[in-house]
Amino acid sequence: MKLAGGKRTKKAKIKCLNCGHVQDIDVPKGICLQFYKCERCGKMINSPKGSCCVICAYSDTKCPVSVG
Ligand SMILES: [Zn+2]
Repeated sequence: MKLAGGKRTKKAKIKCLNCGHVQDIDVPKGICLQFYKCERCGKMINSPKGSCCVICAYSDTKCPVSVG
């Protein structure tokens, strides 16, 4: 089975709450990313309660689940 559409992974610029480092992360399709690890300080960033995911909460874009 082939997936329709482009195979480019969507990227999100996400900002670390701990050190302020902005990094590009791959936006997973179909799931909400509840946490990510900062590549600079190594801190695990969790999505705040009530928000969809770390991408919706801390990045410049919205996750595919939220967009629809
Ligand atoms: Zn950091």
